[in-house]
Amino acid sequence: MKSKLFLLLSFGTVSFMVFGLVNAQARESFKLRIERGRLARADLESESQHEFYLSERRSLLRTKIPSLDFPNKFDSFEDLLSRVNTQSTDYRNRGLHCQFLNKVRDDLVSEKEIELLEWLTDHGRICIASDISGDSSSQAGWSTEMHQFLWKSKWIRKYGANLSLSELVRETVPNMTFETMDIGTWPDVPFDATYGSMSQKDFEFVSNFPPLQTIIKLFDDFDFEKVGQTGLESLDQYTRQHVGHVPDVFFNGTKIWLSPSIGPADAVDTMVHEVGHIALDINRSNFTKSNEQIIYSKDRVLDETVAESFSLTVLRPLQDRYPEIEFSKVLKLSGLGQLKPTDPHFAGASSVHSLFASSDDSPRYLRELLKAKSIEEFLEHHRLRQIVRIGEEDTAEIAF
Ligand SMILES: [Zn+2]
Repeated sequence: MKSKLFLLLSFGTVSFMVFGLVNAQARESFKLRIERGRLARADLESESQHEFYLSERRSLLRTKIPSLDFPNKFDSFEDLLSRVNTQSTDYRNRGLHCQFLNKVRDDLVSEKEIELLEWLTDHGRICIASDISGDSSSQAGWSTEMHQFLWKSKWIRKYGANLSLSELVRETVPNMTFETMDIGTWPDVPFDATYGSMSQKDFEFVSNFPPLQTIIKLFDDFDFEKVGQTGLESLDQYTRQHVGHVPDVFFNGTKIWLSPSIGPADAVDTMVHEVGHIALDINRSNFTKSNEQIIYSKDRVLDETVAESFSLTVLRPLQDRYPEIEFSKVLKLSGLGQLKPTDPHFAGASSVHSLFASSDDSPRYLRELLKAKSIEEFLEHHRLRQIVRIGEEDTAEIAF
């Protein structure tokens, strides 16, 4: 009797637990819809003005850096990539990085920082990660240290002062509200960078959705290996589409990741570009709720327009002293203009080109752009030609 009662009670408890679990799951199950907007193309006149500017910068770079491997035409993305991927066997621009690091060495004033650079470069013998003998992890370790050095040390001379890249960013865009920014390595990609930038508002929003919060906690120190370990098939699929888009939705913090193949001179523009993405996100709410769906919405065209304008504006004072820094940006935009003009980097940079190419007012335009509701609104406000949206909306759905 006792055992029967026990069985009955146990059964009751188990069924209650199972029922409760199912109910809890039913309550908590939801879809996260990630929207990144439709592709766009700038109008032909803006595109051709931008292309003309890029060809002028190309000629100037070739004059200032005679050894530069920078063709006028690119056959394919692989061809484009081989000019910047320092770990590619076809890479021919090592001299660019040596020249850049020599100047950095000359412009440093702190003995400690000079010593650190001498150590990192082995007194000028190491300019890129592939110069390091050993396995890929020692090359990755070297590039992380080099990228962090270029972000934190005071190698920039401006108005008689010595600034770090981090300080130059803050001086150009003083109202940025994030305090710290970490730099990490994104291994196993040929040449790419990404960022995480959850705002306080978004963090508060996700705290109402425990399964989403669990995923975000899992990525506290974003490890690209962990993406496949969440057990969510739809997240796994999303990751396969583009792992670089995962941290900006799921990483709680401000951090950028660069592949080890990004050489020191190219890393400067890349880092500032990624910080531009963070500056856009950090005061916004990208998450909203609509019926039973959570929506993460961010327009890639606005996003890349900001990032491109951000690095152009911040790094303009360095153009004369450090032409090496401009190479990867001019190469990327020239190549995209030829191979894929609908890419948000090229379409966005072309659409706002006339404001940002030469104007002393570009920091002011940049601050406006950071607050813009949409790229269309910003273009209209400045009486610029509108972009034309094309193609399907870029969306993904993750079921929890
Ligand atoms: Zn970007």
